Amino acid sequence: MRILPIYFPASDAEVAKGDVTSAHIEAEVKHYLTLLKARMKRAGDALDPTDENKLEATLETYLGAKFNSMTSEASEWAASPWKERLEELWDSRAGSAVTWMERLREHHETVYRCPSCGLLRDLAQEGGDRMPVDHYLPRSAWPELAIVATNLVPSCDTCNTRLKKTQAPGPGEGRLFLHPYFDHFITGIELLAKIDIPAGASAPRFEYSVAGKALAPEQESVMSEHFRLLNLDKRYCFRATQESLATVRSETRRRVAAGDWTTPGDLSKWLAGHAETVLDAKGALNWETAITRAFANSQDFAAWLFNAAKPFPVTNP
Ligand SMILES: [Zn+2]
Repeated sequence: MRILPIYFPASDAEVAKGDVTSAHIEAEVKHYLTLLKARMKRAGDALDPTDENKLEATLETYLGAKFNSMTSEASEWAASPWKERLEELWDSRAGSAVTWMERLREHHETVYRCPSCGLLRDLAQEGGDRMPVDHYLPRSAWPELAIVATNLVPSCDTCNTRLKKTQAPGPGEGRLFLHPYFDHFITGIELLAKIDIPAGASAPRFEYSVAGKALAPEQESVMSEHFRLLNLDKRYCFRATQESLATVRSETRRRVAAGDWTTPGDLSKWLAGHAETVLDAKGALNWETAITRAFANSQDFAAWLFNAAKPFPVTNP
């Protein structure tokens, strides 16, 4: 999971740490209305001043990062004849909306990790060269936000298409997913990994969980829902077994075979250094950091791994 800088195609301004200023909000609202008006003009239509004012107000609410209230009630545009017209902007394959989308996608081209799960995108599986964009608030319920840059967040196929889909909270419910531009409180989230070594098992079992440091109840709730709905425990456990465990296992086999390590204590020392290296490279809120830290903190794990790495005794006849 990570916070991305916000990109406002209207001004090409990249805002470090996602600070939304009134100038950015103004720029995006202006850009949005230009696209909508151009689209309507081509259809021989014009934007009514009352609708224009209402749209401006809706967008400002969203862009001002006050989108909490919007997730608890359906947008008035979703039930209006405007729904199709607003969705059309997204579906449109001609005109400035497409150029704008291309620029947004180009901007996200260097995003290799999905900001929702923190996993590297799988190009082979996703069959594309770019991270897809997801509507943070689904366009079925909020058609007016279909082409708003801050509502279009990069997301891997698994998070977006397979797990999040169009899930949105019902009336009176809190948000379900963290927003990669706005939710800076994720720096106060701790990702923890636990190791369990059942007697006689051929491999340890892992379990991931999230904990918040001094978070507000609304923040705690969106953090837990995000973790649960995106199936992050299972997805991280799979990677931890396939990648992190495999790495420390092969290193241990090599060092034990070479005679460098003669006790589980030698291995523990190395695991502590390894955890530091991973923390430096990947940061604190990362599945790999969490599991390598758990490796380093568990004497049971070191004992298990050391024994598993020992060559089979050669018995002389
Ligand atoms: Zn993802």
